[in-house]
Amino acid sequence: MDKKKEKEKKPENIENTSNNTLTRKRLLILMAVFILIAMIIAGYTGYIQFVWANELRVKAYEQQNRDRTIKAERGTIYDSSGNVLAISVSVDTISVSPIEVRKNKSITVEEVAQELSSILELDYENVLNKLNMDNHYQLIASKVERSTSDLLKAFIKEHKVSGIYIHQDSKRYYPFGSLAAHVIGFTGDDNQGLYGLELSLDNYLRGTDGKILTELDVAGTELPFAFESRIEAVDGYDVITTINTDIQKIAENVVKQAIEDNKAEGGAVCIVSDCKTSEILAMVSEPGMDLNNPRALPEGYTIDGWTGLRKSDVDLLYSTVWRNKAIMDTYEPGSTFKSLTTAMALEEDIVQQDTMVDDFPVTVYGATIHCWAKQYPHGKETFLQAVYNSCNPVFVKVSHLIGIKRFYEYIESFGFRDPSGIELMGEGQSIFHSEPTKLDMSVASFGQRFQITPIQMVAAYNAIANGGYLIKPSLTDAIADKQGNIIYDFEPQVVRQVISEETSDEMRKILQGVVSEGGGKNAYVDGYRIAGKTGTSETTVEGVYVSSFIGFAPADNPVITVLLIVFNPQGDSYYGSQVAAPYAKLIFEQALEELSVEKQGTAGKEKTPVYVPNLNGYNVEKAAKKIKSYGLNYEIEGSTAGEDVTIMYQFPESGTVIAKDGVIILYTYVPENKKTVKMPYLAGKDKSYVVKALKDLGLNINSDGDGECIGVQYPAGTYVEKGTIVNITFRFTDYPD
Ligand SMILES: [Zn+2]
Repeated sequence: MDKKKEKEKKPENIENTSNNTLTRKRLLILMAVFILIAMIIAGYTGYIQFVWANELRVKAYEQQNRDRTIKAERGTIYDSSGNVLAISVSVDTISVSPIEVRKNKSITVEEVAQELSSILELDYENVLNKLNMDNHYQLIASKVERSTSDLLKAFIKEHKVSGIYIHQDSKRYYPFGSLAAHVIGFTGDDNQGLYGLELSLDNYLRGTDGKILTELDVAGTELPFAFESRIEAVDGYDVITTINTDIQKIAENVVKQAIEDNKAEGGAVCIVSDCKTSEILAMVSEPGMDLNNPRALPEGYTIDGWTGLRKSDVDLLYSTVWRNKAIMDTYEPGSTFKSLTTAMALEEDIVQQDTMVDDFPVTVYGATIHCWAKQYPHGKETFLQAVYNSCNPVFVKVSHLIGIKRFYEYIESFGFRDPSGIELMGEGQSIFHSEPTKLDMSVASFGQRFQITPIQMVAAYNAIANGGYLIKPSLTDAIADKQGNIIYDFEPQVVRQVISEETSDEMRKILQGVVSEGGGKNAYVDGYRIAGKTGTSETTVEGVYVSSFIGFAPADNPVITVLLIVFNPQGDSYYGSQVAAPYAKLIFEQALEELSVEKQGTAGKEKTPVYVPNLNGYNVEKAAKKIKSYGLNYEIEGSTAGEDVTIMYQFPESGTVIAKDGVIILYTYVPENKKTVKMPYLAGKDKSYVVKALKDLGLNINSDGDGECIGVQYPAGTYVEKGTIVNITFRFTDYPD
């Protein structure tokens, strides 16, 4: 072949064609040159393949087809009441045909480069280099806001510039930023789902891109219209989630407060679920991320050259702010698991609420298990009291009666062995002893030495609350097309019935008692009948605890289940009753109000705060009457003799919010020095004592919680103005869980 080619190329060279020997020599030289070229090419191949190949391929395609993809619009993600959680907004891609641009007569290539770089905020030299390329396609900028590309359009129109192309594209936008970040997730540069529902529901959301195929001739000019063929894009479906944005906000705010107050170094998790359907109304995992900038460097880290794209950067993101601890991590549930043991025992008819039991120590394989109240055990008590008192030995003895086989069958039945099946990827795997011994079961009966995920626990408590049905937790309510037609309507999926309606009824009453009378008192909300349990467990790292509360309300007809877990609290306490229960209470209170669940009885009414009226200029008699009509009390400083004595100063001042039954100090003169009182020592004192002590001193109280005083705004011994509203925190501290 080569020989023949050579001959053809040089047909006039008579000298060579007639000399065979010479031809052979030339051939050898040629071969050597070929080999050399081949070696050089081989050296470059790797580089071209891994670095340039894609770029070259795209360019070749673009050159032939001029970037005529019709982008499918990605579906919108909504919350349960139609608020937009994720939406695609129109942006533009700017490209040029350098050859076309240089054909412009009215404007120089430098001027075009200048304008492009200034409007798009790009490096001038870089843009100019692209404009000087010898081809028909150069990408200048992508994801350009519409307002910016409008400026470019105006420039193109004004100067009649050809060769600059603006193509419509889209960008994902998350109106609530960091809200429900781990649930919603985010997309990549090509709008492909990378995380959260954006990833797991990508098939619904993505749609299918269309194409306009227009072939170009050799000079890069579009061939006549007849050659164009068009494949329309199919837009993605919209997703209607079960997330309730208002409840999500409530949960996130409370979780942040719990982390701050308890110096929780491991963050926190909260799940709010509909008891009857296992639909998730809110899911919080802190720390979180801003979905509009998910690759930002996590708070508290300093890392050189951070891009959020390098493998090490992504690894850090996955282990911190991207990590959805509500489904990915496992934890030891501690005493919150006693509800499950109780449900098993009642279902198996091993004990009744009034069965007499005792919490005396029990020894299994040489290990002795005591009640937490080791010094003064609760002794003989009913099973119900043992649950209220959270007596470990009672649960151990009950588990022995259930037996290993049945006990672990229930664990499986409650869903602790399998992933919950929620529509998110990366669910953690629960951990149980593979061949559990009697001791393993004994310890498991009060929630220790095994690991489950938070979402599994919520599904199990829903079963306790809803009549016994384990229902697959879900985040998706429906899938709809762009016209709003429902394509898929997801119904709650019952996995199995775990316990009977009767056991569920009993459990609701028992767990309500735990909150109103037992160890869960700090979660008590007057009128909302919360049922639940606190839990505290130590991790494998000494001094690192997990504190939690899980419960549902209202107990007689449960609407929501709330799980709150605080990881590694380093504040005054690490007990679930102190660290988690008071915050779960806040979530219940606000979420149930948001859901318009009415409080029972007269709960809360007498506590309604009032605005202090303006009393300045009133005479004493009139002022007193007015104060009484507000349900408030008063004390007078100064003389009240004479009819024309009027109020010159009052404290608290008008407009201040004050608890009903509060006191207002009225002065019949303009005080140079306001009356003060000395703060008494209140730490550890009972609420009723504290309320009376402050009232006697002429002080007002703004109280948080019930039980014993654990925090006062002003230290004992300091002087405060009479009438001051003092913030005081109360908590029940008699149960360690
Ligand atoms: Zn006990």
